[in-house]
Amino acid sequence: MRIDLHVHSTFSDGMLTPTDLIETAVRKEIAAISLTDHDSLGGVSEALEAGRAKGVEVLSGVELSCEYRGRDLHVLGYGADPQHVGFQDMLTQFRETRHKRGLKIIEKLNALGIAIEPAEVLARAGGGALGRPHIAAVLVDRGVVSKVGEAFDKYIAEGGPAYVPKYKMSAADAIRYIHEAGGLAFTAHPGIFMENMQEMLDLVAEGFDGIEVFHPNHSASRTRDLEALAKEKGLLISGGSDFHGFPGRDNMGVGDVPYALYEKIKAALDGRA
Ligand code: AMP
Ligand code: ZN
Ligand code: FE
Ligand code: FE
Repeated sequence: MRIDLHVHSTFSDGMLTPTDLIETAVRKEIAAISLTDHDSLGGVSEALEAGRAKGVEVLSGVELSCEYRGRDLHVLGYGADPQHVGFQDMLTQFRETRHKRGLKIIEKLNALGIAIEPAEVLARAGGGALGRPHIAAVLVDRGVVSKVGEAFDKYIAEGGPAYVPKYKMSAADAIRYIHEAGGLAFTAHPGIFMENMQEMLDLVAEGFDGIEVFHPNHSASRTRDLEALAKEKGLLISGGSDFHGFPGRDNMGVGDVPYALYEKIKAALDGRA
């Protein structure tokens, strides 16, 4: 049995609803998923309900945009209570900063002579946590660029003429918030951010419960090193596809992450409750 503990829905920048994701999981024979939207737990209840109806186990999840030593770091929270008021408030504020930043990106595009409107972008986000992929999709629809990747390369990637950084919390704060809401904190795809294993050791010492070892952007050797580190330090291991439902990337379940990892995470959550 395989699992996928990293998927995105329309509650952030994914293309599919939580219900669609569950249907995809059924089709791909994935036993358990975690919905890990950026800065939102909004889709978790729908995923849980659809999962119960279709026989797919669902773990509450969220992916927080953080900073560590001045660089980007994503943090996954598994098993946080979606109703926890302090966590909800923090996420609402987080999404508010995303919203303001999205408007700034649109202003910069407008100043470059690209006449897109905030309303179009917000419609595209459909109430979900606003992200650059939504802006990129509007640029494609309008024929400004031919592909999402081109929108990033030409305008909105870091260093691009319409780039605006987003607010990021410290990794330590993210861990604290996740723990307060009853969840477990994992470093998301650290192989992308961390320069070497010494830095990884420093990072996990911040108080992480686990490492996302299996991710499509991790090389085979990085995956082995991360797995060895997790075992040595007694940390939990997770893995997933980072599926967004983007056209041409039908990769949910990639990596065939084993079900036993999910059982260990659940046991750790049970032990904490
Ligand atoms: P944001 O959270 O608004 O900064 O947007 C980040 C998201 O944009 C990432 O999660 C990716 O899904 C997507 N993204 C980042 N860089 C690129 C790129 N060069 N091409 C396509 N998508 C990208
Ligand atoms: Zn995303
Ligand atoms: Fe990420
Ligand atoms: Fe992600």
